[in-house]
Amino acid sequence: MINFLNLKQINTPYAGELKEAAARVIDSGYYILGPEVRSFEQQFAEFCGVKSCIGLASGLDALVLILRAWKLLGKLKDGDEVIIQANAYIACVLAITENNLKPVFVEPDAESYNIDVSRIRDAITPATRVIMPVHLYGYASPMPEIMQIAGENNLLVLEDCSQSHGASIDGKRVGYWGDASAFSFYPSKNLGALGDSGAATTNDEELDAALRALRNYGSKERYYNLYQGVNSRLSEMQAALLSVKLKHFWPEVECRRSVAERYLAGIKNPLIALPLVASREQHTWHLFVVRSKHRDALKKYLHDQGIESLIHYPLPPYKQPAYAEMNHLSFPLNEAIHNEILSLPADPSLSEADVQLIIDACNKFEG
Ligand SMILES: *Cc1c(COP(=O)(O)O)cnc(C)c1O
Repeated sequence: MINFLNLKQINTPYAGELKEAAARVIDSGYYILGPEVRSFEQQFAEFCGVKSCIGLASGLDALVLILRAWKLLGKLKDGDEVIIQANAYIACVLAITENNLKPVFVEPDAESYNIDVSRIRDAITPATRVIMPVHLYGYASPMPEIMQIAGENNLLVLEDCSQSHGASIDGKRVGYWGDASAFSFYPSKNLGALGDSGAATTNDEELDAALRALRNYGSKERYYNLYQGVNSRLSEMQAALLSVKLKHFWPEVECRRSVAERYLAGIKNPLIALPLVASREQHTWHLFVVRSKHRDALKKYLHDQGIESLIHYPLPPYKQPAYAEMNHLSFPLNEAIHNEILSLPADPSLSEADVQLIIDACNKFEG
């Protein structure tokens, strides 16, 4: 069986360095908000080209706490609207509703699967305060256009970069463009820790200070609480492991890009539509997503050939049982996308032979 993602195989080449980093933390006696977190935050801020990175417990927390901080700083209030693509991941919508804000969905672009920029202006109302582009599958959204619309309408931009670390557009990486950005380092992401973790990035010093307080019970000074905060601290252990993973990040992305390029050149089947790429730098191939009218048959056929594939995601957020009050919403293009997408293995540790086997299997699929 060719697995969709083999995390053990991805991390094994770095096992020695990871164990050294873990030992360093154990021996230091410093386990919370110490030198490892500070060092990783600095490296990751530099990586994104921004002033500050705030290490947090997860990607979801990054989204939730950025919106919460904006409320505390008086930039948002209950009921304000957040524009987001209809095919966003559930975490994005949870962060919005958790903060008593309202998601306003926009159809995604049929070729990039990111927000369809041409539809944003029509979704803006007097209550709109935020645009939340989600750089899905590793593909950076058209940020220059989004920033222009935001500027013209005085809106905040929150990038969800959880699937797209390092993807860039016009030479600037995701996490650089928006007023704030959220990252997940969940183990399966392109930059993955060995447990839950995440981060926010920003150039805004006020937001930086609010997030640092919020992640630590709302406290700037020990035992004095400015906000009703939470415990969402990036751990020293995960920060130390992430510093190792960051060193090996680009060679891994290079492997992902070459797997994707082999698929793009090799898969030639009218029943399988391949993803679009504007430029090599814009895509980091967290997922390689194809489309087919015969998606379910394709998935079963691949499985019978020993190839695991997954669907990201089978059901849009507004159709989830958790959001019964939104179930009446309908975005026909988005729903067609959800019915047709299939993610092929894009594991950077795939062998050449496995990639060829997947290409051959796709080319022999007859519907
Ligand atoms: C993974 C992911 C998240 C959530 O990250 P966690 O660390 O699992 O909380 C948010 N948004 C997107 C787009 C993701 O892919």
